[in-house]
Amino acid sequence: MGARNFYEETTARLEKALQFCDDTKAVVIGDKTLDSVGDFFKKLFDVRKAIVVADATTFRIAGKRVSDALAGAGIEVEPSYVYDVPHMHAEMSLVDMLKPRLAQTDAIPVAVGSGTVNDLCKYTSSLVERPYMVCGTAASMDGYTSFGASIEFNECKQTFSCPAPRGVLIDMDVVCAAPLKMNAAGFADLIAKIPAGADWIIADLLGTEPIDQVAWRLVQDSLRDWVADPEGVARGDRKALAFLTEGLIMSGLAMQKAKTSRTASGAEHQFSHLWDNQHHKFNGEASHGFKVGVGTVATSALYERILENWTEKTFDVAIANVDVDFRSWETIEKELEEHFGTTGLFETVKRECRKKYVEPDELKRRLALFRDSWSELKQKLADQLMPAAEIQTIIHKATAPSTPEEIGISRERLQYSYRLAQQLRYRYNVLDWTRDVGQWSTMVDALFTSGGFWAR
Ligand SMILES: [Zn+2]
Repeated sequence: MGARNFYEETTARLEKALQFCDDTKAVVIGDKTLDSVGDFFKKLFDVRKAIVVADATTFRIAGKRVSDALAGAGIEVEPSYVYDVPHMHAEMSLVDMLKPRLAQTDAIPVAVGSGTVNDLCKYTSSLVERPYMVCGTAASMDGYTSFGASIEFNECKQTFSCPAPRGVLIDMDVVCAAPLKMNAAGFADLIAKIPAGADWIIADLLGTEPIDQVAWRLVQDSLRDWVADPEGVARGDRKALAFLTEGLIMSGLAMQKAKTSRTASGAEHQFSHLWDNQHHKFNGEASHGFKVGVGTVATSALYERILENWTEKTFDVAIANVDVDFRSWETIEKELEEHFGTTGLFETVKRECRKKYVEPDELKRRLALFRDSWSELKQKLADQLMPAAEIQTIIHKATAPSTPEEIGISRERLQYSYRLAQQLRYRYNVLDWTRDVGQWSTMVDALFTSGGFWAR
């Protein structure tokens, strides 16, 4: 079939991004790349031994081939570690299962799988202080190249700090054959970077989390191209899926560069984290990307309403109201207890909300800053964002859920989720902004009443 132009484009962009990363040294996306996994491994790890880590499914579709190809290249390969756990997801007990096996050997783990296997292998490898690599089997999330692993511990999904993989090898034949719902989930996780970028623009203006220009460009420069062909994703088109894979991997590299997940996650991810922590499942499943996709529509709809309605005067009114409406820390704490008191999240949300709590004078300063920057800020946000209905259509074309009902969330619950999601994390976003401006009922609640986006 010869060289494909889009692989050249992708490779060039990835090579450039790798210069900025401390952990990941090589990323290859292409056709039949699993056949050359031996060379890829040797370049990264020289004469070290290898051990494939997979689950029953990923071992069947690619793990066995990887192990054979490594051995065929003259690498000493230990018997594979294959999880035999039905409906497995990343939880600490599975780390505890893998750790003794890795501790018995000095072989380099080669994860074969997507989110779950990668997170388990990433974290366990770090516990035995060893680098690892991954052969990704689906374009389902952006965690391949991010530092940190998302693992459930004490019934809460948590991110554990650990290095990103030394290398990532993607065989597009495997990704194209992956279940559509996995690639659709990855698509939703990628388009989320649109409102996430808008959130970063606001935080940058406030100075709480300044934009890292390099990391910003890694994600945002090609984002529109990566999500341009949702129908292609749905029909398993190779170019559409290669771009999707690249976008997800680049998002991870940007997190490595900036040493924060701010580059790839904003308020839309807080909806997902909230539902994770509520152990929300629909038809037995809890796809990260699907939840993030609905969160993406939710925050885009809020932004849209804000940009349609707010003016400089909105902030003047807000400033005047601070002395009347200001919510003291005690008031917020009481509210947190009401919302989270019976959940395992109470201490976390208290800590996170305390970090972003500001006194009246600082709140007034911020509101004045928004007012004085309004025309420029409004333009920047408008350039960054897409209309919520358009995002919804694109996500739907990629076959990911674009309405809350499709993931088992009622409108009523979604409305309450806006409130809870705002309190989940320190990271300043459109939800905090709406609250600070004192516009919750006119912006969020109004989305659910006659004429509002969610009342349709
Ligand atoms: Zn995500």
